[in-house]
Amino acid sequence: MSRSHRLVCDGCSFLVTQCVCQWIPSINNPLPVVVIQDQREAKHAKNTLTLLRLVLPSLRCISAQSGEELHAALDVLPLDRWRLVFPNEGSSPLEQVTEEEKAEIEGIILIDATWRKAKRLFLSTPKLQAMISWHFVSPPHNDYAIRKSPKEEALSTLEACAYAIEQLTEKNMQPLRDFMVSAQAFQWRQQPEGHQHRNRDV
Ligand SMILES: [Zn+2]
Repeated sequence: MSRSHRLVCDGCSFLVTQCVCQWIPSINNPLPVVVIQDQREAKHAKNTLTLLRLVLPSLRCISAQSGEELHAALDVLPLDRWRLVFPNEGSSPLEQVTEEEKAEIEGIILIDATWRKAKRLFLSTPKLQAMISWHFVSPPHNDYAIRKSPKEEALSTLEACAYAIEQLTEKNMQPLRDFMVSAQAFQWRQQPEGHQHRNRDV
């Protein structure tokens, strides 16, 4: 492999051979978003959070690995005015949030991890359990065809974020989904043959 294959794009931070800059849409998202990320998920080549951050530069990412960092980050947020997007026994349907509640919401928190790890993080973090949380009743079809998901209906972090913003702000987030599909299809084609057969370990 020649050296040029290792060059990284200044715009998207992918290798220049995997550059997705030409598809990054311009979206003005008024809703602050925090994502708690599992580091193992971050290393996965098909992780959607990397793409999501290119479209929403204001998105804040917190590592799930450091309990201290996570608690410090949660401590400074007025969590009564933030919402956790994570299905659990106490969550309510995002689709039924009233206009009054929407007006009070300052931001949303999502968890970027496998279902199992996200649940463990939730159960071991009282501050997250104390938050008002949401699940989706009728999310759009899952476009995430490349990476195999254990649950047919499971949305990627990017799709979950897009849907939540749409429900809360009525902004059209389809350009964000289109970007994911274009970028992943392109990067998939650019991958060396051997890498295409790697599936995620769940
Ligand atoms: Zn680029």
